[in-house]
Amino acid sequence: MLQFLDSLADFLFPPLCHICHAFIPDAGKLHICPECLGEIQFISEPACEICGTPFFGAGDSHICGRCLTDRPFFDLARAAAVYGGGVRQMIHAFKYDRKTHLRRPLALLTISATAGFISEEKPEIILPVPLHVERLRQRGFNQAVLLGELISREFRIPMERRTLLRLRRTMPQVALSVAERMENVKNAFGLSKKAKIEGRKVLLVDDVFTTGSTVDECSRILKKSGVARVCVLTVARAING
Ligand SMILES: [Zn+2]
Ligand SMILES: [Zn+2]
Repeated sequence: MLQFLDSLADFLFPPLCHICHAFIPDAGKLHICPECLGEIQFISEPACEICGTPFFGAGDSHICGRCLTDRPFFDLARAAAVYGGGVRQMIHAFKYDRKTHLRRPLALLTISATAGFISEEKPEIILPVPLHVERLRQRGFNQAVLLGELISREFRIPMERRTLLRLRRTMPQVALSVAERMENVKNAFGLSKKAKIEGRKVLLVDDVFTTGSTVDECSRILKKSGVARVCVLTVARAING
Protein backbone atom coordinates (compact mmCIF):
# COMPACT_ATOMS: atom_id res chain seq x y z
CA MET A 1 0.00 0.00 0.00
CA LEU A 2 2.76 2.40 0.97
CA GLN A 3 4.62 1.52 -2.18
CA PHE A 4 1.50 2.23 -4.19
CA LEU A 5 1.12 5.61 -2.48
CA ASP A 6 4.77 6.39 -3.20
CA SER A 7 4.30 5.60 -6.89
CA LEU A 8 1.12 7.64 -6.95
CA ALA A 9 2.95 10.58 -5.38
CA ASP A 10 5.75 10.24 -7.95
CA PHE A 11 3.16 10.22 -10.72
CA LEU A 12 1.37 13.30 -9.40
CA PHE A 13 4.54 15.13 -8.35
CA PRO A 14 7.43 13.79 -10.47
CA PRO A 15 10.54 13.83 -8.27
CA LEU A 16 12.87 16.64 -9.26
CA CYS A 17 16.39 17.18 -7.98
CA HIS A 18 16.39 19.87 -5.27
CA ILE A 19 19.53 21.38 -6.77
CA CYS A 20 19.39 21.18 -10.60
CA HIS A 21 15.62 20.47 -10.82
CA ALA A 22 16.17 17.62 -13.28
CA PHE A 23 13.69 14.74 -13.17
CA ILE A 24 15.06 11.80 -11.14
CA PRO A 25 13.22 8.51 -11.71
CA ASP A 26 14.56 6.87 -8.55
CA ALA A 27 14.72 9.82 -6.24
CA GLY A 28 14.89 7.99 -2.90
CA LYS A 29 14.35 10.08 0.20
CA LEU A 30 16.89 12.74 -0.61
CA HIS A 31 15.66 13.97 -4.01
CA ILE A 32 19.14 14.99 -5.13
CA CYS A 33 20.35 13.55 -8.45
CA PRO A 34 23.59 11.51 -8.50
CA GLU A 35 25.47 14.28 -10.37
CA CYS A 36 24.55 16.98 -7.82
CA LEU A 37 25.18 14.60 -4.93
CA GLY A 38 28.61 13.79 -6.40
CA GLU A 39 29.50 17.48 -6.41
CA ILE A 40 28.75 18.02 -2.73
CA GLN A 41 32.00 18.28 -0.77
CA PHE A 42 31.31 16.21 2.32
CA ILE A 43 33.58 16.89 5.27
CA SER A 44 35.50 13.96 6.69
CA GLU A 45 38.64 13.36 8.71
CA PRO A 46 41.38 14.50 8.96
CA ALA A 47 39.92 17.61 10.56
CA CYS A 48 40.55 19.83 13.57
CA GLU A 49 39.62 17.83 16.67
CA ILE A 50 37.81 20.85 18.09
CA CYS A 51 36.38 23.14 15.41
CA GLY A 52 36.18 20.57 12.62
CA THR A 53 38.12 22.54 9.98
CA PRO A 54 38.81 19.93 7.32
CA PHE A 55 42.43 19.32 6.35
CA PHE A 56 41.38 17.71 3.02
CA GLY A 57 43.28 14.49 3.32
CA ALA A 58 46.55 15.98 4.61
CA GLY A 59 47.98 14.13 7.65
CA ASP A 60 46.10 13.08 10.79
CA SER A 61 43.39 14.89 12.71
CA HIS A 62 44.85 17.35 15.24
CA ILE A 63 43.96 20.66 16.84
CA CYS A 64 44.26 23.52 14.32
CA GLY A 65 46.39 26.62 14.93
CA ARG A 66 43.40 28.85 15.50
CA CYS A 67 41.93 26.59 18.21
CA LEU A 68 45.37 26.27 19.86
CA THR A 69 45.83 30.02 20.20
CA ASP A 70 42.21 30.93 20.84
CA ARG A 71 40.39 27.93 22.22
CA PRO A 72 36.66 28.09 21.54
CA PHE A 73 34.05 27.67 24.30
CA PHE A 74 32.41 24.76 22.47
CA ASP A 75 34.06 21.36 22.80
CA LEU A 76 33.50 20.12 19.30
CA ALA A 77 31.98 21.36 16.05
CA ARG A 78 31.03 19.22 13.08
CA ALA A 79 29.36 19.98 9.75
CA ALA A 80 28.15 17.71 6.99
CA ALA A 81 29.50 19.57 3.97
CA VAL A 82 31.49 22.53 2.73
CA TYR A 83 29.33 25.63 2.23
CA GLY A 84 29.34 25.99 -1.54
CA GLY A 85 27.68 24.84 -4.78
CA GLY A 86 24.41 22.98 -4.39
CA VAL A 87 24.48 23.04 -0.58
CA ARG A 88 24.81 26.82 -0.54
CA GLN A 89 22.06 27.10 -3.15
CA MET A 90 19.67 24.97 -1.05
CA ILE A 91 20.47 26.84 2.18
CA HIS A 92 19.85 30.19 0.44
CA ALA A 93 16.55 29.07 -1.01
CA PHE A 94 15.55 27.59 2.36
CA LYS A 95 16.34 30.73 4.37
CA TYR A 96 15.78 33.64 2.04
CA ASP A 97 13.17 32.34 -0.44
CA ARG A 98 11.21 30.53 2.28
CA LYS A 99 11.54 27.14 0.59
CA THR A 100 11.07 25.46 3.95
CA HIS A 101 10.57 22.02 2.37
CA LEU A 102 14.34 22.09 1.76
CA ARG A 103 14.89 21.47 5.45
CA ARG A 104 14.31 17.81 4.67
CA PRO A 105 17.20 17.17 2.25
CA LEU A 106 19.44 19.48 4.31
CA ALA A 107 18.64 17.61 7.53
CA LEU A 108 18.99 14.22 5.79
CA LEU A 109 22.45 15.15 4.48
CA THR A 110 23.44 16.27 7.98
CA ILE A 111 22.02 13.18 9.65
CA SER A 112 23.75 10.75 7.30
CA ALA A 113 27.10 12.56 7.40
CA THR A 114 27.24 13.00 11.19
CA ALA A 115 25.45 9.96 12.65
CA GLY A 116 28.78 8.54 13.91
CA PHE A 117 29.60 11.76 15.71
CA ILE A 118 26.18 11.80 17.41
CA SER A 119 26.42 8.19 18.57
CA GLU A 120 29.88 8.87 20.04
CA GLU A 121 28.95 12.11 21.74
CA LYS A 122 25.46 11.11 22.93
CA PRO A 123 24.16 14.64 23.48
CA GLU A 124 21.17 14.88 25.84
CA ILE A 125 19.40 17.94 24.51
CA ILE A 126 19.29 19.86 21.25
CA LEU A 127 19.28 23.64 21.38
CA PRO A 128 18.71 25.51 18.11
CA VAL A 129 20.61 28.81 17.75
CA PRO A 130 17.84 31.33 18.41
CA LEU A 131 16.80 34.23 16.18
CA HIS A 132 15.75 37.57 17.60
CA VAL A 133 11.97 37.84 17.77
CA GLU A 134 11.93 40.64 15.15
CA ARG A 135 13.99 38.60 12.69
CA LEU A 136 11.75 35.62 13.41
CA ARG A 137 8.70 37.71 12.58
CA GLN A 138 10.25 38.90 9.32
CA ARG A 139 11.35 35.45 8.19
CA GLY A 140 8.43 33.56 9.65
CA PHE A 141 10.58 30.67 10.88
CA ASN A 142 13.90 29.90 12.47
CA GLN A 143 15.93 27.68 10.14
CA ALA A 144 17.81 26.16 13.09
CA VAL A 145 14.50 25.07 14.69
CA LEU A 146 13.23 23.50 11.45
CA LEU A 147 16.47 21.55 11.02
CA GLY A 148 16.68 20.73 14.73
CA GLU A 149 13.19 19.19 14.70
CA LEU A 150 14.21 16.61 12.09
CA ILE A 151 17.55 15.90 13.77
CA SER A 152 15.75 15.53 17.12
CA ARG A 153 13.27 13.06 15.60
CA GLU A 154 15.97 10.98 13.92
CA PHE A 155 18.28 10.65 16.91
CA ARG A 156 15.53 10.77 19.58
CA ILE A 157 17.17 13.62 21.41
CA PRO A 158 14.67 16.14 22.82
CA MET A 159 14.88 19.68 21.46
CA GLU A 160 14.27 22.69 23.70
CA ARG A 161 13.27 25.80 21.78
CA ARG A 162 13.00 28.24 24.64
CA THR A 163 16.07 27.48 26.71
CA LEU A 164 18.63 29.52 24.80
CA LEU A 165 17.31 32.98 23.95
CA ARG A 166 18.45 35.86 21.75
CA LEU A 167 18.39 38.91 24.00
CA ARG A 168 19.12 41.59 21.46
CA ARG A 169 19.02 42.04 17.75
CA THR A 170 22.35 41.78 15.98
CA MET A 171 23.44 42.81 12.50
CA PRO A 172 23.51 40.07 9.86
CA GLN A 173 26.96 38.50 10.19
CA VAL A 174 27.40 38.13 6.42
CA ALA A 175 29.19 41.42 5.71
CA LEU A 176 31.31 41.55 8.88
CA SER A 177 34.95 40.66 9.54
CA VAL A 178 35.91 38.03 12.13
CA ALA A 179 36.54 40.67 14.83
CA GLU A 180 33.33 42.53 13.99
CA ARG A 181 31.34 39.28 14.12
CA MET A 182 32.58 38.53 17.63
CA GLU A 183 31.72 42.04 18.80
CA ASN A 184 28.34 41.87 17.07
CA VAL A 185 27.17 38.76 18.94
CA LYS A 186 28.76 39.58 22.31
CA ASN A 187 26.14 39.28 25.07
CA ALA A 188 23.43 38.70 22.45
CA PHE A 189 22.29 35.43 24.09
CA GLY A 190 20.93 34.38 27.44
CA LEU A 191 19.09 31.54 29.09
CA SER A 192 15.49 31.22 30.10
CA LYS A 193 14.93 31.37 33.86
CA LYS A 194 13.39 27.90 33.61
CA ALA A 195 16.43 26.38 31.90
CA LYS A 196 17.69 23.21 33.53
CA ILE A 197 20.92 22.52 31.76
CA GLU A 198 23.54 22.23 34.46
CA GLY A 199 25.78 19.22 33.95
CA ARG A 200 24.12 18.29 30.64
CA LYS A 201 25.53 17.56 27.22
CA VAL A 202 24.15 19.97 24.66
CA LEU A 203 23.98 19.75 20.88
CA LEU A 204 23.78 23.24 19.43
CA VAL A 205 22.22 23.23 15.93
CA ASP A 206 22.52 25.86 13.21
CA ASP A 207 22.53 25.95 9.42
CA VAL A 208 26.01 27.30 8.64
CA PHE A 209 29.25 27.56 10.60
CA THR A 210 31.09 30.55 9.15
CA THR A 211 33.66 31.87 11.59
CA GLY A 212 31.98 30.14 14.51
CA SER A 213 31.51 33.38 16.47
CA THR A 214 27.74 32.93 16.93
CA VAL A 215 27.92 29.34 18.19
CA ASP A 216 30.95 30.23 20.30
CA GLU A 217 29.12 33.04 22.02
CA CYS A 218 26.15 30.68 22.66
CA SER A 219 28.63 28.13 24.04
CA ARG A 220 30.19 30.73 26.35
CA ILE A 221 26.78 31.40 27.92
CA LEU A 222 25.99 27.68 28.19
CA LYS A 223 29.34 26.85 29.80
CA LYS A 224 28.99 29.78 32.20
CA SER A 225 25.67 28.25 33.29
CA GLY A 226 27.24 24.88 34.03
CA VAL A 227 26.62 22.89 30.83
CA ALA A 228 29.03 19.93 30.84
CA ARG A 229 29.73 19.75 27.13
CA VAL A 230 28.71 21.67 24.03
CA CYS A 231 28.86 20.10 20.58
CA VAL A 232 27.93 22.12 17.54
CA LEU A 233 26.25 20.61 14.50
CA THR A 234 25.67 22.52 11.29
CA VAL A 235 24.66 21.48 7.80
CA ALA A 236 27.53 23.34 6.23
CA ARG A 237 30.80 24.98 7.04
CA ALA A 238 32.39 27.91 5.24
CA ILE A 239 36.00 27.36 4.30
CA ASN A 240 38.23 30.45 4.54
CA GLY A 241 35.16 32.45 5.47
ZN1 LIG B 1 20.67 17.54 -9.65
ZN1 LIG C 1 40.20 24.19 15.10
